[in-house]
Amino acid sequence: MAHKHTKILIIGSGPAGYTAAVYASRAMLQPVLVQGIQPGGQLTITTEVENWPGDSMVQGPELMARMETHAREVGTEIVSDYIQSIDLSHRPFTATGDSGLTYSADAVILATGAQARWLGLPSEEAFKGFGVSACATCDGFFYRGKQVVVIGGGNTAVEEALFLTNFAAKVTLIHRRDTLRAEKILQHRLFNHPKVEVLWNHELSEVFGSRNPPGVQGVRAKDVSSGAITELPCDGVFIAIGHAPASELVRDQLETHHGGYVVTRPGSTETSVPGVFAAGDLTDHVYRQAVTSAGMGCMAALEAERFLASVSEDEEDAPRSRVA
Ligand code: FAD
Ligand code: NAP
Repeated sequence: MAHKHTKILIIGSGPAGYTAAVYASRAMLQPVLVQGIQPGGQLTITTEVENWPGDSMVQGPELMARMETHAREVGTEIVSDYIQSIDLSHRPFTATGDSGLTYSADAVILATGAQARWLGLPSEEAFKGFGVSACATCDGFFYRGKQVVVIGGGNTAVEEALFLTNFAAKVTLIHRRDTLRAEKILQHRLFNHPKVEVLWNHELSEVFGSRNPPGVQGVRAKDVSSGAITELPCDGVFIAIGHAPASELVRDQLETHHGGYVVTRPGSTETSVPGVFAAGDLTDHVYRQAVTSAGMGCMAALEAERFLASVSEDEEDAPRSRVA
């Protein structure tokens, strides 16, 4: 079985992972970065990014392709693999990829980000891939001239709803409260869009449709105060209720909080295991932005560099002190 040893193993290829890779490469640490099943991370499933400093507008996939190129150009070894298990109980840390490749590393930077959350309704599960989606950028094209609903009230839901207006005849945003948490500028665009309607104070209770072939025909939404059910015909349902940290790999080995976010020391990316650093959405339940993820990726690389330097100093000192 093939094996790779590296001073720094970076797991994840979103803004946090690629930024860590740029800094670690420029520190001559020859990092290995494992991309996972979503090379480029969450920004590859969106369109316009308007808050990345230096670009008043850039397409998410383009921004991430540029980050990948940057990381490669400064010397990062980028591996197309998915880490299925990791052992953080002793150094060097070891990991195994889906490819069968095994890895060992003196330090690890975890940048596995977050994944879309689902409501957990049986009917949502039944129609996943047949009209129920968590990615308008990926699936919006199929709804040209059709009616769709979007569930949620954050930035993602509002952006998804606006994006879907490019294709759909009508977009209904269903939100469980009477205010959105999305940025004001996005709310303004949503409320002024002629194709958009908002159904306030409602929760999705069921997706219904045909079974053979499977296809969505509508949703039932429940009024949160009265319990009354509203039936809306539609062809597609986009669930945009946030993201959960991708911490399954390490949940039993590192301290986590707030439903799985990896705990880091305040003002740092150090986790509960020395030599293991966490950056980006995996550890951030507050900001969850590309730029903050990139910032944490930078911090993680600088902290990993200092950690490796201190460990190698200790190793150099050890024999001398035994002699003395
Ligand atoms: P992610 O981008 O989540 O990347 C995680 C990486 O880890 C992926 O490459 C994945 O393949 C990899 N990975 C996961 N598990 C493993 C494993 N076991 N082995 C190997 N690799 C693994 N933020 C903004 O600032 N501006 C925006 O306009 C904006 N728009 C957004 C639009 C949408 C639709 C979404 C969903 C998010 C948006 N965000 C935006 C938020 C932003 O995308 C995230 O904050 C950011 O991508 C987090 O970066 P990250 O590096 O922590 O992780
Ligand atoms: P979010 O901000 O956590 O919003 C999730 C939304 O879904 C909330 O409105 C929430 O309702 C609703 N929700 C959660 N669980 C629900 C349930 N079980 N049933 C019904 N509704 C439910 O998530 P997000 O919008 O995906 O954003 C995640 C992060 O990425 C944020 O930090 C965001 O700023 C960032 N992001 C940024 C941009 C941008 O900068 N343009 C774009 C996209 C995402 P409540 O409001 O009632 O809690």
